[in-house]
Amino acid sequence: MANQDTLHRRGLMFILSSPSGAGKTTIARRLLAQDTQIRLSVSVTTRPPRPGEVDARDYHFITEAEFRRMVDAGELLEWAEVFGHLYGTPKAHIKAGLKEGHDFLFDIDWQGTQQLYQRMEVDVVRVFLLPPSIAALEKRLRERGTDAAAVIDARMARAKAEISHWDGYDYVVVNDDLDRCFEAVHGVLKAERLRRARQTGLVDFVRTLMG
Ligand code: 5GP
Repeated sequence: MANQDTLHRRGLMFILSSPSGAGKTTIARRLLAQDTQIRLSVSVTTRPPRPGEVDARDYHFITEAEFRRMVDAGELLEWAEVFGHLYGTPKAHIKAGLKEGHDFLFDIDWQGTQQLYQRMEVDVVRVFLLPPSIAALEKRLRERGTDAAAVIDARMARAKAEISHWDGYDYVVVNDDLDRCFEAVHGVLKAERLRRARQTGLVDFVRTLMG
């Protein structure tokens, strides 16, 4: 007897992008808390930790020299410079995890999304969150209160640039209601797991069914 969870499948790379302030972090946290099969891809960055951030949980905080070494050694699946800091996705444990059937959540921008898609197309599912309005976006950025005014202005400009890449994603969800947005995003994840090509255990299972 088999059920959906015991059939072997290849994991997927679930990319969640949005302009900052559109609720991406909240949706990502909920996914990680409620869905046991997906884990966060923890990026490396040269950005210093913000208050409350924990090394190896939020990011691997590394020096620029170490970052450059990883780039040169081919240890990153993709990388980008954002606000003057370097960010990248370590390769080894992702590749191994996908084989074992683990899904990974990526909180990366459109540059990283494009690079991952070019390299890992069949494993990648791209989801973009839009804010209900620019005013709502700015309000969320200000309420967050962790960044100086000049940084917020830079983030607003960058938010608009991010939004302009909405058409490079497979799924787009407007986050006007957190619960509804979460259900939509989780629904995409659950459906994508059922794609025949990911269900590597199907051939044997169906063979058994047919006797
Ligand atoms: P923050 O400094 O606010 O944590 O992140 C700044 C931006 O860098 C966000 O848009 C985030 O999605 C992006 N980012 C974080 N990690 C990575 C990564 O590994 N690769 C790329 N390309 N972007 C990343």
